[in-house]
Amino acid sequence: MSVRKLRLSVVVPCFNEEAVLSLTHQRLIESLGGHEGIELEIVYVNDGSRDRTEEQLFALADGDPRVTVVSFTRNFGHQPAVSAGMRQATGDVVAVIDADLQDPPEVVLQLIAKWREGFDVVNAVRAQRKENVAKRLAYAVFYRLYRKLASIDVPLDSGDFALMDRRVVDVMNALPEKNRFVRGLRSWSGFRQASVTYERQSRAAGETKYSFRKLVRLAFDGIVNFSTAPLSLIFAIGALTAVLSVVAGAIYLFCHVVDLPIFGYAPGHAPGFTTLLLVILFFSGLQLISIGIVGEYLGRIYQETKMRPTYVIREVRSLRKPAAE
Ligand code: UDP
Ligand code: MG
Repeated sequence: MSVRKLRLSVVVPCFNEEAVLSLTHQRLIESLGGHEGIELEIVYVNDGSRDRTEEQLFALADGDPRVTVVSFTRNFGHQPAVSAGMRQATGDVVAVIDADLQDPPEVVLQLIAKWREGFDVVNAVRAQRKENVAKRLAYAVFYRLYRKLASIDVPLDSGDFALMDRRVVDVMNALPEKNRFVRGLRSWSGFRQASVTYERQSRAAGETKYSFRKLVRLAFDGIVNFSTAPLSLIFAIGALTAVLSVVAGAIYLFCHVVDLPIFGYAPGHAPGFTTLLLVILFFSGLQLISIGIVGEYLGRIYQETKMRPTYVIREVRSLRKPAAE
């Protein structure tokens, strides 16, 4: 064994977390700070919080050289915050963890143990979610659908809580895409993955910062960023519809010739408004949905072509480095 300590960076995205931050920091320091053989660095990313989060974080950074704070100009979102933290982190291994203690910091030690076995990515997988039934069901459906659609090996029920080797972090940091679904990119990088199961806790304090809208957005990003299956789906539906319409046409023609009534009317002398209306409504709906899906991809292409950064940093605070950038 080498004498050099393992340099561990823990990335913590924070958005309006004043209620829980001091507790989180204390737990991180307790469980990972005093550990022999580990040199700890904590990278907090303030994702444009509107409460006293930034103030608290800066105070931590000013009092402890192990703490680095990256502060955004505004709220850019969880995934951009994680991405920024990973770019700031300097460790040999980088862990990503939520600020609300739902991911127990102690689990990082298990992740490290697994990493030492030779895995480059160690995902922390939830044994059981302490959320309501609807949310759990939605998550379960999403992860299964996601694995089917995206042709990458994403472990079921893993969030962003994970440990990555420096090599993985470097690969991910170098990816130029702006709309980032971090857990997807992590699996995409293709390095050897392993999982460690843990009990996901309830939030230690404060409220969830993920609104329903943000969650749906995240799920959508996950699928559209990693799969073109929805486009193929449109094609499949279109093809099926075309075949059906030919079949229906044949049936109508047949009924017309032998003067057989369908839906109460013989096609020869039936006004057929209802059928017409239903068909028009159904297919206009289908077309709008299809255009919408194509639009999602087009919109992303548009966003990416603008080459805007994923986030804007206002300040980096750390005793170790001059506050530059
Ligand atoms: N978060 C963030 N920016 C956002 C929303 C959330 O940085 O716009 C952070 C938040 O502070 C927390 C993590 O992402 O550390 C997960 O958020 P939260 O716990 O609210 O989500 P949940 O666990 O309820 O899905
Ligand atoms: Mg949470």
